Amino acid sequence: MKIIMLGAPGAGKGTQAKKIAEVCKIPHISTGDIFRANIKNGTGLGQKAKEYMDQGLLVPDELVCDLVVDRIQQPDCKKGYILDGFPRTIPQAEALTNALNAIDEKMEYAINIEIPDENIIRRMSGRRACVGCGATYHLVYNPPKIENICDVCGEKLILREDDKPETVKKRLDVYHNQTQPLIDYYEKQNILKDVDGTKSMDEVFKDILAILGV
Ligand code: AMP
Repeated sequence: MKIIMLGAPGAGKGTQAKKIAEVCKIPHISTGDIFRANIKNGTGLGQKAKEYMDQGLLVPDELVCDLVVDRIQQPDCKKGYILDGFPRTIPQAEALTNALNAIDEKMEYAINIEIPDENIIRRMSGRRACVGCGATYHLVYNPPKIENICDVCGEKLILREDDKPETVKKRLDVYHNQTQPLIDYYEKQNILKDVDGTKSMDEVFKDILAILGV
């Protein structure tokens, strides 16, 4: 099963993608996570990506496309995968379509989590991420067991630079200008499925499973 998650930053793509990956037993490929891992490890890619990420801007297409195209051709992707945070621009979507055409494959689902900007701003100010493993929490909707400590690895939780309110507003502008056109792109490919992202995490998950027929 080959799935793309669409939706504004903070719509819940990452949370849902992880759960779907678990149920469908396919890899969860998050470009945001890949960049954050590179930043943490101090790689050249991480240094370049950080300049853009901290400002709420997209990392240039040329730094993202090859990385994803290589990743989806790894052996663990044979039975499918779920892409979270990619594509984010029309050129990225075209690079993906071309790469899949070249190996005679097609994307199957583009799940679009719909949610108004106001809800997102409210949600993201409560988000916390682990400095160690990157796990994410929410002060209200998904709090850690011990305040400010990661349940998974015990490291400290922080408000990510790119989740700060001024950066979130910038990211939403970037989303509307550069990523929203993908909704039409995948509608035309007949694989777009809209989901109401204002519902609870569990309800959204159920709606997605119904679409996937699992
Ligand atoms: P995310 O965790 O998916 O919200 O991604 C965090 C940040 O990483 C984004 O705001 C971008 O700066 C960068 N990023 C992640 N995926 C992409 C992508 N496909 N294209 C460009 N930039 C990306």
